[in-house]
Amino acid sequence: MFRIGTGYDSHRFAAGRPLMLCNVRVPSELGLAGHSDADAALHALTDAILGAISAGDIGQHFSDSDPRWKDADSSAFLVHAVKLAAEKNFRVANCDLTIITQSPRLGPLKDKMRQRLAELLGTPADRVSVKAKSNEGMGFIGRGEGLAVIAVVLLEKI
Ligand code: MG
Repeated sequence: MFRIGTGYDSHRFAAGRPLMLCNVRVPSELGLAGHSDADAALHALTDAILGAISAGDIGQHFSDSDPRWKDADSSAFLVHAVKLAAEKNFRVANCDLTIITQSPRLGPLKDKMRQRLAELLGTPADRVSVKAKSNEGMGFIGRGEGLAVIAVVLLEKI
Protein backbone atom coordinates (compact mmCIF):
# COMPACT_ATOMS: atom_id res chain seq x y z
CA MET A 1 0.00 0.00 0.00
CA PHE A 2 1.24 3.45 -0.92
CA ARG A 3 0.46 7.02 0.08
CA ILE A 4 1.60 10.11 -1.84
CA GLY A 5 2.03 13.68 -0.62
CA THR A 6 3.10 17.02 -2.00
CA GLY A 7 4.68 19.98 -0.25
CA TYR A 8 5.47 23.56 -1.21
CA ASP A 9 7.30 26.29 0.65
CA SER A 10 8.74 29.69 -0.10
CA HIS A 11 10.77 32.14 1.96
CA ARG A 12 12.10 35.64 1.42
CA PHE A 13 15.83 36.23 1.27
CA ALA A 14 17.21 38.20 4.23
CA ALA A 15 20.60 39.57 5.16
CA GLY A 16 22.41 38.33 8.24
CA ARG A 17 21.00 34.80 8.14
CA PRO A 18 22.68 31.56 7.03
CA LEU A 19 21.17 29.92 3.93
CA MET A 20 20.10 26.41 4.92
CA LEU A 21 18.64 24.02 2.34
CA CYS A 22 18.16 20.29 2.96
CA ASN A 23 19.99 20.86 6.28
CA VAL A 24 23.11 21.85 4.32
CA ARG A 25 24.69 25.28 4.76
CA VAL A 26 24.83 26.92 1.34
CA PRO A 27 27.48 29.63 0.76
CA SER A 28 25.48 32.80 0.07
CA GLU A 29 25.48 36.48 1.03
CA LEU A 30 21.77 36.16 1.84
CA GLY A 31 19.92 33.64 3.96
CA LEU A 32 16.18 33.14 4.31
CA ALA A 33 13.80 34.99 6.63
CA GLY A 34 11.72 32.82 8.93
CA HIS A 35 10.92 31.87 12.50
CA SER A 36 13.00 28.69 12.40
CA ASP A 37 16.18 28.30 10.37
CA ALA A 38 13.87 28.83 7.36
CA ASP A 39 15.05 25.70 5.54
CA ALA A 40 12.37 25.77 2.85
CA ALA A 41 13.46 22.40 1.43
CA LEU A 42 12.98 20.64 4.76
CA HIS A 43 9.67 22.45 5.27
CA ALA A 44 8.33 21.37 1.85
CA LEU A 45 9.44 17.77 2.40
CA THR A 46 7.97 17.72 5.92
CA ASP A 47 4.65 18.96 4.53
CA ALA A 48 4.73 16.29 1.81
CA ILE A 49 5.11 13.53 4.42
CA LEU A 50 2.41 15.05 6.64
CA GLY A 51 0.17 15.28 3.59
CA ALA A 52 0.77 11.66 2.65
CA ILE A 53 -0.46 10.50 6.05
CA SER A 54 -3.25 13.13 6.24
CA ALA A 55 -1.68 14.62 9.36
CA GLY A 56 -2.23 18.31 8.64
CA ASP A 57 0.61 20.68 7.85
CA ILE A 58 3.86 21.84 9.36
CA GLY A 59 2.28 24.98 10.86
CA GLN A 60 -0.14 22.88 12.93
CA HIS A 61 2.70 20.81 14.38
CA PHE A 62 5.28 23.57 14.75
CA SER A 63 3.66 26.98 15.18
CA ASP A 64 5.70 29.95 13.97
CA SER A 65 4.64 31.83 17.11
CA ASP A 66 6.11 29.17 19.42
CA PRO A 67 9.39 30.40 20.93
CA ARG A 68 10.67 26.81 21.04
CA TRP A 69 11.09 26.91 17.26
CA LYS A 70 12.83 30.29 17.07
CA ASP A 71 15.89 29.74 14.85
CA ALA A 72 15.29 25.99 15.27
CA ASP A 73 17.09 23.41 13.16
CA SER A 74 14.29 22.32 10.80
CA SER A 75 15.61 18.77 10.66
CA ALA A 76 13.61 18.24 13.88
CA PHE A 77 10.40 18.90 11.91
CA LEU A 78 11.28 16.37 9.23
CA VAL A 79 12.31 13.72 11.75
CA HIS A 80 8.99 14.26 13.57
CA ALA A 81 7.02 13.73 10.35
CA VAL A 82 9.00 10.55 9.60
CA LYS A 83 8.20 9.33 13.12
CA LEU A 84 4.47 10.03 12.67
CA ALA A 85 4.56 8.10 9.39
CA ALA A 86 6.38 5.20 11.06
CA GLU A 87 3.71 5.11 13.77
CA LYS A 88 1.24 4.47 10.94
CA ASN A 89 3.60 1.81 9.55
CA PHE A 90 4.78 3.87 6.58
CA ARG A 91 8.31 4.59 5.42
CA VAL A 92 9.61 6.74 2.59
CA ALA A 93 9.73 4.83 -0.70
CA ASN A 94 11.19 7.81 -2.53
CA CYS A 95 11.08 11.58 -2.61
CA ASP A 96 11.83 14.23 -5.20
CA LEU A 97 12.52 17.90 -4.48
CA THR A 98 12.82 20.84 -6.85
CA ILE A 99 14.46 23.95 -5.43
CA ILE A 100 13.66 27.03 -7.52
CA THR A 101 16.05 29.92 -7.02
CA GLN A 102 17.76 32.44 -9.23
CA SER A 103 20.88 32.30 -7.07
CA PRO A 104 23.06 30.90 -5.65
CA ARG A 105 23.73 27.99 -7.98
CA LEU A 106 23.12 24.75 -6.11
CA GLY A 107 24.52 22.21 -8.55
CA PRO A 108 27.72 21.45 -6.60
CA LEU A 109 25.73 20.82 -3.39
CA LYS A 110 22.92 18.64 -4.70
CA ASP A 111 24.62 15.33 -3.86
CA LYS A 112 25.46 16.53 -0.36
CA MET A 113 21.81 17.53 0.07
CA ARG A 114 20.62 14.11 -1.11
CA GLN A 115 22.95 12.39 1.35
CA ARG A 116 21.79 14.53 4.24
CA LEU A 117 18.10 14.03 3.43
CA ALA A 118 18.68 10.28 3.17
CA GLU A 119 20.22 10.29 6.66
CA LEU A 120 17.29 12.24 8.11
CA LEU A 121 14.73 10.02 6.35
CA GLY A 122 16.47 6.75 7.18
CA THR A 123 16.33 5.97 3.46
CA PRO A 124 19.03 4.95 0.95
CA ALA A 125 20.28 7.97 -0.99
CA ASP A 126 19.22 6.43 -4.32
CA ARG A 127 15.62 6.98 -3.20
CA VAL A 128 16.18 10.71 -2.69
CA SER A 129 16.31 13.27 -5.50
CA VAL A 130 17.20 16.96 -5.29
CA LYS A 131 16.91 19.12 -8.39
CA ALA A 132 17.59 22.82 -8.83
CA LYS A 133 16.00 25.26 -11.26
CA SER A 134 16.31 28.96 -11.92
CA ASN A 135 13.10 30.78 -12.75
CA GLU A 136 14.48 32.22 -16.01
CA GLY A 137 14.45 35.68 -14.42
CA MET A 138 10.69 35.73 -14.00
CA GLY A 139 8.58 36.78 -11.02
CA PHE A 140 9.63 37.06 -7.37
CA ILE A 141 12.17 34.29 -7.74
CA GLY A 142 13.63 35.83 -10.86
CA ARG A 143 13.98 39.16 -9.07
CA GLY A 144 15.86 37.43 -6.26
CA GLU A 145 13.27 38.26 -3.60
CA GLY A 146 13.12 34.69 -2.36
CA LEU A 147 13.11 31.05 -3.32
CA ALA A 148 10.60 28.22 -3.44
CA VAL A 149 10.70 24.45 -3.09
CA ILE A 150 8.33 21.76 -4.37
CA ALA A 151 8.49 18.29 -2.83
CA VAL A 152 6.77 15.00 -3.66
CA VAL A 153 7.02 11.94 -1.48
CA LEU A 154 5.79 8.37 -1.85
CA LEU A 155 5.31 6.37 1.34
CA GLU A 156 5.10 2.59 1.37
CA LYS A 157 3.57 0.37 4.02
CA ILE A 158 6.22 -1.39 6.09
MG1 MG B 1 8.73 27.45 5.69
